[in-house]
Amino acid sequence: MDTLVQMKVTGKNAEKVLDISFDRIEELENLMSKTLKKSEIYKINHSSESVEVSDDTIKVLNKSIHYAELTSGRFDPSIGPLVDLWGIGTENAEVPEEEEIVEAKNLVNYKNIEIDNNRVFLKQEDMQIDLGAIAKGYAADEVKRIAEKNSIESAFVNLGGNVLVIGHKADGSKWRIGIQDPRQNRGNIMAVINAADKTIVTSGNYERYFEEDGKIYHHILDPDTGYPADSGLLSVSIISENSFDADALSTSIFILGLEKGMEFIKDQKNIEALFITNDLEVYLSPGLRGKVEITGEDFKLIEGELSGN
Ligand code: ADP
Ligand code: MG
Repeated sequence: MDTLVQMKVTGKNAEKVLDISFDRIEELENLMSKTLKKSEIYKINHSSESVEVSDDTIKVLNKSIHYAELTSGRFDPSIGPLVDLWGIGTENAEVPEEEEIVEAKNLVNYKNIEIDNNRVFLKQEDMQIDLGAIAKGYAADEVKRIAEKNSIESAFVNLGGNVLVIGHKADGSKWRIGIQDPRQNRGNIMAVINAADKTIVTSGNYERYFEEDGKIYHHILDPDTGYPADSGLLSVSIISENSFDADALSTSIFILGLEKGMEFIKDQKNIEALFITNDLEVYLSPGLRGKVEITGEDFKLIEGELSGN
């Protein structure tokens, strides 16, 4: 999945769970990668007819269409043409011509993904599905299912920023999960959340980006503008019970921004969010208040309701 996977498993079946999990992650990548020619997504993207795919791929497609509907298309699994055009994270990344952006943007429309049982058809030529915003979340939940099936009571999984903890740490205390400092390299944290049986998924502008003329262009694109989302946020972390939804949500809320994002989260049960704005202000959804330890000196925790609410 073009990312780092880290797992720490305690228990009798630990070795077995690691083996099965890594095999399963590879299996999902082989189904849902946009670049591997043997993948189902590749086949859908390069076929002029409908393609029959696995239940796994259908589940991830259906969930992503659900979030596309909830966000009025700001989250859109048919973002592929824009992702390819910008090439962020590849050697060819550069700011495209305005004309090219308009052309790619016009291909992005989840309503043109037709699903009939297990058959998928893209109604518009040159459309492309990209499940980069959600597939890792599905994979993380699969790892959780495998661990639980094998009676693992304690595990830590980090699938490229999708963190998942099962039970408590082996010594019985809660896991201390770090929130990445969005201005720094991987591993530098700005806050800690103590948790058991939770997932924390972060979307930020630091994961993949390039700089041109002093401006940062990152990998979460806004289908409305065709440019990297510029909603005033450096990152959003979603804390909840399942990674599948949390992954879709972190990307969605990053694009929606603080005000709309907070509204959105308040309507969801058992889902919390931590927002970091461009000014290094930290906002928490109501259920997280008092539960986050800010460790980064430059960050300012803003308590209470958002003004205007
Ligand atoms: P990461 O993969 O870095 O953990 P995300 O889960 O936020 O971060 O996913 C970002 C990826 O999602 C991008 O690399 C791209 O493949 C895809 N993507 C970009 N913009 C959108 C969008 N508006 N809707 C759906 N997927 C997107
Ligand atoms: Mg995501």
